Amino acid sequence: MRCGLCLAEEPNLVNSHIVPEAIATAGLLNGQFSLLVGPKNYPKRMQIGAYSRIVCEKCEASFHAEDELFIAAFRFLNQAPVFDEGVATILDGFDGSQLKRAVLSILFRANLSDHELFRDVNLGPYEDELRRYLVERSGDVSSVFSVALRHVTGKDGRIVLNCMRAMLGGAHTYRIYMPHLTALVKVDKRPWEKSIAYASLGSTNPPVALRVDSLAPSERRAISLAVEPHVSRIEKAFRRFR
Ligand SMILES: [Zn+2]
Repeated sequence: MRCGLCLAEEPNLVNSHIVPEAIATAGLLNGQFSLLVGPKNYPKRMQIGAYSRIVCEKCEASFHAEDELFIAAFRFLNQAPVFDEGVATILDGFDGSQLKRAVLSILFRANLSDHELFRDVNLGPYEDELRRYLVERSGDVSSVFSVALRHVTGKDGRIVLNCMRAMLGGAHTYRIYMPHLTALVKVDKRPWEKSIAYASLGSTNPPVALRVDSLAPSERRAISLAVEPHVSRIEKAFRRFR
């Protein structure tokens, strides 16, 4: 079998979490839970996150350092200082370029994975560039790739939608949903508009995350379409976890 990262032929590929497990399951650990809204309009409770056999053992191990860093940043969000009248969260003490690499590693895994949550991810001609960047572990990616984080502080933040690609801030952007955090990844030659670009990881020190209370109206519409047929079942599930 061929490793999706180093491209070596290997007798076995190992399981990789696409989003680090500690993040994917964070809602469960807090005594809450994340509602997973899949592409088949079937909402269900997030259990152990999504994983796939996509790379060799060595490449899987190469994900760990950035995953740990990203988990640390994720945990820091709740206590992170807020600035600019509440529209941004400061990731004090973190390195924006390293966080950007961590998110691009997640996007790369999502691209390799055949899990339903990530079926919208297709890097096409940009896959090779991202692979080189991750394998060589030095330098930066081209300006096609930008990453911003969105901290969703309110109740909406518990909802984990399937990863989707849509226009955002003037460019094609993937949204990778995690509990109370969305990674926004631009894969487009066009730059983002200023309202997002200022939070682009690697462009400020310390890095910042956009801070919002709730999801955008378009996202809420996608959720309600998926959730409406199942409202009574979901309310029952929420009651159990209150
Ligand atoms: Zn490999």
